[in-house]
Amino acid sequence: MRIKVLKFGGTSVGTAEHRLAAARHVVQCREQGCSPVVVVSAIGRAGAPYATDTLLNELRGVDPSVPPDPRDLDLMVACGEIISTVIFAQTLRSLGYQATALSGGQAGIITDEVFGDARIASINPYYAISSLRQGKIPVVAGFQGVTDPGTGRHGAITTLGRGGSDTTASALGAALRAEAVEIYTDVPGVMTADPRVCPGAATLPRVSYEEIAEMAHQGAKVLHPRAAEIAMDYGIPLWVKGTGMADEGTLVAGSAADLPHRVTGITSAARIAYLTLRVAHPEDRRRLELELFRILARVRVSFYLIGSSTESIGFAVPRESLALVTDLLDGLVVPAEREGDAPRLYVLRAGETGTQSAVQQDLLAGAGNLGSVVPAPLAVADTCAIVSVIATRMWETPGMAVAALETLQEAGVPVLQMADAPLSLSCLIHENGLERAVQALHARFILREQEEGTGALKY
Ligand code: ADP
Ligand code: MG
Repeated sequence: MRIKVLKFGGTSVGTAEHRLAAARHVVQCREQGCSPVVVVSAIGRAGAPYATDTLLNELRGVDPSVPPDPRDLDLMVACGEIISTVIFAQTLRSLGYQATALSGGQAGIITDEVFGDARIASINPYYAISSLRQGKIPVVAGFQGVTDPGTGRHGAITTLGRGGSDTTASALGAALRAEAVEIYTDVPGVMTADPRVCPGAATLPRVSYEEIAEMAHQGAKVLHPRAAEIAMDYGIPLWVKGTGMADEGTLVAGSAADLPHRVTGITSAARIAYLTLRVAHPEDRRRLELELFRILARVRVSFYLIGSSTESIGFAVPRESLALVTDLLDGLVVPAEREGDAPRLYVLRAGETGTQSAVQQDLLAGAGNLGSVVPAPLAVADTCAIVSVIATRMWETPGMAVAALETLQEAGVPVLQMADAPLSLSCLIHENGLERAVQALHARFILREQEEGTGALKY
């Protein structure tokens, strides 16, 4: 059996017309002699009756001061994809094809127990295979799974995090040994920048798994990074295509290590907060840094663009995590180097009031000679954004950082912090410069190189 997994995002199943366009891709796959397995997201974007955000708001709206139980949240939002599978299966039937609508659990997707951001632990796609054998088209709910029914959780419904339907598609592709996974969305493929931010963006014919994963990690939401990583691990070719569009789309395959230097694209992530912790004694920096990042990792907050100098430690977090982070760090006591008999005790102070910090300092001062208390204020810049240049062989290509800095300076966008990685160069900027920054970097690194014949589009 030549299996292909076809995934359709929220807008691709948003209206009856879009669903028909999507269903035509499925029918075409069948006519080409393949066995399609469909994965769908919830119908539409925020505001649509069963969209993920609508369901979330409905639950939160009961009483905004009472946070919902994470288990209930997952149970609630998972309904969006379940409704979508049934409607899509019915659309296929209306075209004369037999279909089986399956929830994530029915498709055999077992996850860990991290509600809201679960990871797939295993897939037993028995139901999907038996329905394929009967000539039916399985339509699987994306973004969700269940915990192992044997662990006492009774198979609780979990969700895989934003963009998780892409991951469902890749993981199903791996479990079914599919010959390809096709991600259908509302743009013609993976582009050199988000076309909403940069109208001059062009579709990339081909990218490696690592480049697309890096683009995704740096804010391009066209594909979930975990989806690219799974496809890479199992060597499954992945396509990103536009629903209802005749374009070939983008083939994701191969390794970045086999490519020459090229700039793949420009990405951006808005709604970033940058925190800077003052460290009074340079010799304590490493210890503080380690403790700080250990704590953030423990609560699963992603942090990036780490900048350290002798007097400070800086890092970026998504703005939506800011309240959690400041709450967690304010008042935190970190013991560092010894000063005389006792250690230096850094008391972190975060947020406007720093109430916990003040209380903690008083308690320590009253508790005898536990150590010398060093106040450590945490400054917050909460209207930042990150723009990144994604490129292969970044470290073997001198001059990238200088060119990026010059370009942003000419565009009048101050760079607050910069960091490079094997496949990316990221700049922290003020949010209000985001569009200008992306467009300027795109003109400099993509359009110019294209004219010179060295650009990414030629691959
Ligand atoms: P879906 O609901 O189909 O999963 P998403 O909204 O998650 O769709 O992803 C598609 C969107 O990703 C596009 O509408 C586009 O605005 C955005 N995007 C960001 N960066 C890129 C990029 N480099 N190439 C293509 N699309 C991008
Ligand atoms: Mg998506």
